[in-house]
Amino acid sequence: MDLHSQLQTTWTSIITTYRPGVIEIVADILVQLVGFIIPAAIYMLIDVAFPKFSQRHKIQSPRRQPTRQQILHCIKISLFNHTISMAMHGAMLYTAGGFDHSLMNFGPDIPSLTTFIGDFFFALLAREISFYYVHRALHHPRIYAYIHKMHHKYITPVAFAAEYAHPIEHILANVLPITLPLYLKGAHGLSIMAFVTFELWEAAADHSGYDFLKLPPAELHDLHHEKFRVNYGTIGLMDWIHGTDTYGWDRKEGKVDKAK
Ligand SMILES: [Zn+2]
Ligand SMILES: [Zn+2]
Repeated sequence: MDLHSQLQTTWTSIITTYRPGVIEIVADILVQLVGFIIPAAIYMLIDVAFPKFSQRHKIQSPRRQPTRQQILHCIKISLFNHTISMAMHGAMLYTAGGFDHSLMNFGPDIPSLTTFIGDFFFALLAREISFYYVHRALHHPRIYAYIHKMHHKYITPVAFAAEYAHPIEHILANVLPITLPLYLKGAHGLSIMAFVTFELWEAAADHSGYDFLKLPPAELHDLHHEKFRVNYGTIGLMDWIHGTDTYGWDRKEGKVDKAK
């Protein structure tokens, strides 16, 4: 039996055993754990378990690293945001029919590899475009201080800082750009869950402060935290189109200096 058939058999067994709403909320909890909480905890532990390796791979200097107290505060708010979004998801499922229905398309047939890859790249592009404009709007001088300033508290970010954000930002910039495009497309719930897992890890890696295991490099978003008005997107495409991939893009002619 090939991998697709094995996965199909497992999926058929799951959907004939459990209620759709239960499958969706359990999948959400697993995605948050596997995609974000465990990887973010591992990134944090590197500092404790392998201090020399950690120092060699930190993007910003040791002098600029947050204190233990700041890191604990960051973890607390980040986990709070995760709990709130999972609780909201659970409440929506309960309201929709006491877990007898799923909000996503959890159809009996798992997506083919071609559909899965197509969904992935569609979601990657849709997320880049939507996140870029939401993020740039959050940097508007009239809005910045009320919402996005909180996320920029960590000039030298750590993995958990990915979800250290005002609740409005968490929903508008973190949750919706990675879930809504595939949901509106009617993609299979498994495609959505897989993409969210990838994006959560990507966010943790982007904020990890480390220069390894990341494409595009974590230095791009790290520089956004250090300099604020550069690299608003996630994969570099929208910044390239708008010219915001260059530190100093908003300064007068002749005063522009490159990021690297
Ligand atoms: Zn950030
Ligand atoms: Zn920002």
